Order: sequence, then C-alpha cells, then structure tokens
Amino acid sequence: MINNELMGIEINNYTFNEAVEKAICLMNSDFVSQVVTINPEMFAQAEKDQEFLNIVTNSEMVVPDGVGIKLALKFKGKNIEVISGIDFSRELLNRCAADGYKVAIVGSKEDVIAKAVENLKNEIPNINIVYWHNGYFDDNNQIYNEIKASEPNLVLVALGSPKQEYFIYNAKNILPPCLMIGIGGSLDVWSGNVKRAPKLFQKLGLEWLYRTICEPSRFKRIFPALPLFLIKSIFYKKEKTC
Ligand code: UDP
Repeated sequence: MINNELMGIEINNYTFNEAVEKAICLMNSDFVSQVVTINPEMFAQAEKDQEFLNIVTNSEMVVPDGVGIKLALKFKGKNIEVISGIDFSRELLNRCAADGYKVAIVGSKEDVIAKAVENLKNEIPNINIVYWHNGYFDDNNQIYNEIKASEPNLVLVALGSPKQEYFIYNAKNILPPCLMIGIGGSLDVWSGNVKRAPKLFQKLGLEWLYRTICEPSRFKRIFPALPLFLIKSIFYKKEKTC
C-alpha cells in the first residue's frame, strides 16, 4: 500500500537520520540510486511533464523538502518530517568524509563551485572530492565519462530542477554504482555567495519564503506553484487505468 502519496508520487516518510542511513545503504548497493528532494514547484513540473513524473516515481528516494509538502500530507492526515535538501546533502558529505567515501560535484558557475569546494575542504576534515565541474556544459557524455573515471560514491548535482533530475536519471545506465542527488542552489550557499535563511525559517521549512523575499524575481516561480499545489493535492483523483 502506498502510504504518503501525493498526486501519484510517493514521498518517503523518514526522519532526517533514517533518510541519511537509507542513503548510505543505497550508496553501497550495486546500482546507481537517485535521490529527489521534492518541493511544490517540482510537482507542478511533474504535472505538465510525464517524463519528469516517471523520473521522480522511479527514483530510489523522494524526500520532502519544504513545508508545502508537509502541509499537503497533513491535509490527508499524515505527519512527516521535512528534510531540507541542503542539510541532508551536507550530512551525506560529513558521512562520506568520516567513512572514506569519494565525492563528485557538478553544477553552478565556475567561481561558485570553485569556492564551494574550497570551503567544503576547509570545513569538513578528510573530505575526498575526487571530481568537480561547473554546471554550464554542452556535452553531458563528457561529464559522465569524467565522473565515471573518478569513481565516486556520492555525486551531488546542482543544475536546478528539472535539469538536475534529468541529468541524474540519464546517468543511471552509464555510471558505476553510486548515490546521486540533486542539490539545487546548495553550492551558492556553500560558496558564501548566498546567505541561508535564519534558523527560524529553516526550522519551519520556510527557506523558500526567505529566498523569495531576498530575491523577489523568484516570486513568480513560487507563488502560483505553492497554493495551486495545495489545492490540487487536496482534490487530486487518481486516473483509472484498466
Ligand atoms: N545551474 C547550472 N547550470 C544550468 C542552470 C543552473 O549549473 O544550466 C545552477 C545555478 O548556477 C545554480 C543552481 O543551478 O547554482 C540552482 O539554481 P536554482 O537556484 O534555480 O535552483 P533551485 O534551488 O531553485 O532548484
């Protein structure tokens, strides 16, 4: 039985720590695993893009990133813990450093990723970043081949959504076993270019609101998506298939 389904997508109901353990377990499996940190904008994308919906439903983990998902499930009587993608991937980096796993990172502008990698190396003792590349390239295969050659256990992809989910999905038959996760704007934060929301916003799962206040250009993107998502998730009816 599907427990935490929203509009055809099953959301994992893990605590933060359980999600980290599950991800580490997947990292040690014999296939490429995809983690999607889902938000209401991605639901809007899934609604208009069947291929994206398939990618999300076929991913090995779908974790709820932001209070919108929590609210929608709350309306259905389910209680889940919000797992912020940036905290989740940072904890995975800590675990990789502690346990000797190798990390590859792709995404963001050259100066942003360079600074983020420098900061991560300073802040996380023993982190082993075996490969990094900016997110502005034309030839995906070249990047896949370079990642492949560096044999990472964890691959963080910061290309924004849905680009990063497509990039990860298409890597599944190319890369050796590893865990891949789309991390959106996390490198912008780790580079120091973008400030994280104050702790209260983080705790309430409202980081997206803080980002929207700081970058009003995001308003157009977020605000139709969020209320529409809540309304649609309440009235969503599964299409009958025979
Ligand atoms: N980005 C990239 N290549 C692209 C498009 C975007 O590397 O072709 C990067 C961009 O520089 C930024 C990151 O993707 O660092 C996330 O972008 P955005 O803030 O739009 O993503 P969100 O966090 O909203 O998913």
